[in-house]
Amino acid sequence: MSIPCNDLKRGFLLHQAEYEQKALEVLRSGWYVLGNEVVKFEEEFSRILGCKYCIGVDNGLNAIFLGIKALGIGEGDEVIVQANTYIATLLGVSMNGALPVLVEPNEFFNFDTNKIEEKITAKTKAILVTHLYGQASKMDDVIALCKKYNLFLIEDCAQSHLAEYNGVQTGTFGDLGFFSFYPTKNLGGFGDGGAVVTNDPVLEQRLRILRNYGSEKKYHNEVLGYNSRLDEMQAGLLRVKLTHLVELTLERAEIAKRYLTRIKNDLVLLPGIEENATHVWHLFVVRVNNRDQFKKYMEENDIKTDIHYPIPPHLSKAYNYLGFKEGDFPITEKYAKTVVSIPMFNGMTDDEIETVIKVINAYRE
Ligand SMILES: *Cc1c(COP(=O)(O)O)cnc(C)c1O
Repeated sequence: MSIPCNDLKRGFLLHQAEYEQKALEVLRSGWYVLGNEVVKFEEEFSRILGCKYCIGVDNGLNAIFLGIKALGIGEGDEVIVQANTYIATLLGVSMNGALPVLVEPNEFFNFDTNKIEEKITAKTKAILVTHLYGQASKMDDVIALCKKYNLFLIEDCAQSHLAEYNGVQTGTFGDLGFFSFYPTKNLGGFGDGGAVVTNDPVLEQRLRILRNYGSEKKYHNEVLGYNSRLDEMQAGLLRVKLTHLVELTLERAEIAKRYLTRIKNDLVLLPGIEENATHVWHLFVVRVNNRDQFKKYMEENDIKTDIHYPIPPHLSKAYNYLGFKEGDFPITEKYAKTVVSIPMFNGMTDDEIETVIKVINAYRE
């Protein structure tokens, strides 16, 4: 038995008939981009999150890019971002000509909120929180800082659909929340997709215009816009998945609970959950000092693992021009060298979960 780290086909098979019916419905509708399915999805997703507006876009990166643009952040501005996030978080800032300013993570892989204030300057315009791996970040600290320094509060929720802090949904704490519906995400579609959510009607209007060539009324272009529209097929299929998202999230929580209570090996450090936060287990990330050896051992036992992420953004070639070097963010760098994602996906069998636990418990150096 070979156990994948993730298997998208299983997720599809869980509700195959519903997806196929919706796909046919959209194909036969004769309307394929920004239509009824998108409008309905936007309504349904914002209702689930408990916020006023949702603007569907073409992917998660463009949700961040357009969101930051809608806030008027650009050249000469700084946005505070956590150093161990996926590079897309930084790219959304850079694409606007602004500078991502990095902060080390805490033991939960999220912002070390004690280290944010020292990075705030006169140029800082926003704090961009990533709820990494699916765990909500410590928002009360971030909210206080944004109030104190009059900064925008924005959230990268690409991995945190339905995660909560103090009972409030990620994405709804501040000015804007950014979501991705890339197939591997917890609310993953069958292609690319994304959304920005907000309670601010002015930002909502700006984003609707930006995503569609800068026009609200066809051929009346008010600003230099983009083509970042969500299509009907994705929106329709996402609506189907959305009706199951609570149960799909519970299924992940059940797998995580079994891992957390039954994996017992001093060589494998299990993830923790911060007080007042929930975790939706987009990824189940453990830490192992001898990672190559551990990965090889798992592979020999037919269990696939993955690394999120092996190269932190500040050491990537792409961000060479910022002039960072090894040692600048030691915690982030240590995580990059020791994190391993073990199998976690909807449709995982009992047998597979038990095998992963048994094999990890038998691991020796
Ligand atoms: C996936 C992801 C994104 C980007 O989403 P895409 O839809 O792939 O563009 C941004 N931030 C984080 C943290 C992600 O995991």
